[in-house]
Amino acid sequence: MAKRNYSSKRNAIYNAICSTHSHPSARWVYDKLKPDVPDLSLGTVYRNIALFKEEGKIQVVCSVNGEERIDGNTSPHPHFVCNCCGNVYDVGTESDNNSDYSSELSEMGFAVQSKYVLYYGICPECLKKNLH
Ligand SMILES: [Zn+2]
Ligand SMILES: [Zn+2]
Repeated sequence: MAKRNYSSKRNAIYNAICSTHSHPSARWVYDKLKPDVPDLSLGTVYRNIALFKEEGKIQVVCSVNGEERIDGNTSPHPHFVCNCCGNVYDVGTESDNNSDYSSELSEMGFAVQSKYVLYYGICPECLKKNLH
């Protein structure tokens, strides 16, 4: 019984992460699931996120205000982080990213294992608000 409960929480956490493109934090996942899973603790969410990371099911995109932001999409893709509202946006796909130094690095003898492209700035929503 306990095991079943454990794995259903695990699934709920994973599904919540994959249900959004907002690159949620652990607290977002907790707040989203808490009404349906009353005995969920923030610690359980953090533990499961750490496990998903280890298993390569999710990737950590960046840290905003001290909270890790995660992505259920594990393919490498660039992100834009808004310094104003803290939203994290997907930017295109890996294939239309022109600034790729992977081949240069391998020519120089480096073995590339992962790549993170992050842009920081102000998103259109916040720019709009600041104009008024
Ligand atoms: Zn913003
Ligand atoms: Zn993403």
